[in-house]
Amino acid sequence: MTFPEVHNQLFINGEWVDGSNEAVEVKNPSTGEVIGKIAQGGTKETAEAIAYAAGAFTSWSTTDPKERASVLHRIGTLIENNLDRLALIMTLEQGKPLSQSKAEVQSSADSFHWSAEEARRLYGRVIPAPNGQHFMTVHQPIGVVGAITPWNFPSNMIARKIAPALAAGCTVVLKPASATPYSALALAELFEEAGLPKGAANIIMGKSSDIGKELTSNDTVKKITFTGSTEVGQILNEQAASTLKKVSMELGGHAPFIVFDDADLDQAVSSLVRAKFRNNGQVCTCPNRIFVQKSVKQAFTEKLLVAMKDVKVGLGIEDETVGPLINEEAREHIEDQIKDATSKGATVLVGGKRPEDTKFANGPFYEPTVLDGVTSDMDIYYIETFGPVIPLIEFDTDDEVAEAANDTEFGLASYFFSKNIARISRFSAALEYGMVGVNSMAISQAETPFGGIKHSGFGRENGEEGIREYVYTKSVCMHD
Ligand code: ADP
Repeated sequence: MTFPEVHNQLFINGEWVDGSNEAVEVKNPSTGEVIGKIAQGGTKETAEAIAYAAGAFTSWSTTDPKERASVLHRIGTLIENNLDRLALIMTLEQGKPLSQSKAEVQSSADSFHWSAEEARRLYGRVIPAPNGQHFMTVHQPIGVVGAITPWNFPSNMIARKIAPALAAGCTVVLKPASATPYSALALAELFEEAGLPKGAANIIMGKSSDIGKELTSNDTVKKITFTGSTEVGQILNEQAASTLKKVSMELGGHAPFIVFDDADLDQAVSSLVRAKFRNNGQVCTCPNRIFVQKSVKQAFTEKLLVAMKDVKVGLGIEDETVGPLINEEAREHIEDQIKDATSKGATVLVGGKRPEDTKFANGPFYEPTVLDGVTSDMDIYYIETFGPVIPLIEFDTDDEVAEAANDTEFGLASYFFSKNIARISRFSAALEYGMVGVNSMAISQAETPFGGIKHSGFGRENGEEGIREYVYTKSVCMHD
């Protein structure tokens, strides 16, 4: 499969430029083939991009919100018009099945359209004041934004940051993940085509620690937004403290998925299989600890094993249920978790090994796996999996599972299945998570706020809250 023509340089102030460091290869994780070489910048280019973004901020921040909205709608429409091309680029550099890439690209278009609409509705308040006085609040764009994004959703993680930032009137310097730069660059091509002013969105590739250091320590940058691991989030947060930036962090997760005895088991099984194997389990909101109530455990497991027959491995381009993992290290992490769990008494019901077909020999593939009898002494119980493994854990009572579900440092997504309204109400409140899916896995869409608590970070993307991350609230108090 030929890789589409995409720019491979840094995008600074509307120009495509080479970086001062040596270009690096990007590989297709399904086949190990080199798909291209990407220019690399560093501290110098990041500082230049920040300066250009600051220049562009002067006019973009004062552009009529209606005009900003038009540009963002144009970007959204261009993304939709280029959906097949953008999806192919994503599948070839990231490995996810083609139809999942298409769904992600569509969600990026949605982020731009949603943010365009929000640009025009960033209302402040009029506050009751003593006679003769007038109090109000207005939301002003915070300034230049530094954004750092991961490889698991190489398009949407960018869209859900850049779109609300631009909608608010901010300008952006973005560093995409080194494994997936082409999806970012292909978006930048569309920014240009849509008429986004030069310097409003800049893309820098290169050594992440150098770029991260400059973005966090440069005083011109007023906001850092990051999606990635908790470890890197902590580093960036510490670095950003030196210049007291506004920060939002979307970090790791270890989502519980709870099936109560009054659940619709067919609904729970099909929801689990769809969500668990989406992007091969490499999703921060992925269900990772599957708690099933004792009285329905056997029935649930039987239905799950039937559903697993339709879960297939393929090269990304073949569009089966799962593709490869992102790299060998990711596969080894999963193998270590399975080895640890089985050595402590868990049993493999499905999978638990690398696929044997020789066409999978050049990529980090792993068979979709169901692990039964998982207990709290196993690594998989506490450590984020980021792979295609369903660990089944049995529980007895509501109180017991509430405690177990919250027994993690993370607090991003959680899910439970029940048809009992009293239980739904009680349990939604008891879960210490930023997001709760009840009989539903659909917790991530442009309309609803997305984000976590505890070590999953802070700040929200999407929803009415998404754009608020890019403004500060100013009080204006007047006397007539
Ligand atoms: P993952 O690789 O699992 O997505 P990471 O947190 O390692 O999670 O990476 C997320 C993003 O953060 C990537 O763009 C990566 O290059 C970047 N990154 C990694 N280490 C640093 C760092 N020290 N400073 C800034 N960015 C970093």
